[in-house]
Amino acid sequence: MEAMSGHDEIECRQIAELLADYLDGSLPQPTSELIEWHIESCAPCVAFVNTYRGTIDAARKLREVEIPSELRQRLLTVLRAQRRSE
Ligand SMILES: [Zn+2]
Repeated sequence: MEAMSGHDEIECRQIAELLADYLDGSLPQPTSELIEWHIESCAPCVAFVNTYRGTIDAARKLREVEIPSELRQRLLTVLRAQRRSE
């Protein structure tokens, strides 16, 4: 780890916390720039962002795909069974 350079550095932990807002575009410009600057020089965060984006895409695709009612019924049954066993 390099010595602290004094200005507002952002940590990986904060990237994780702010990422949803960052991708939404709801963060103030300076904060977005800090995140971009951090991600450019941090491989773990690049991987994290890619995974996060991939998850969103997968969720979107899932919503687009129509689930056959038989399968949905089966899923609901499994979910209810899980809830009951808690
Ligand atoms: Zn990082």
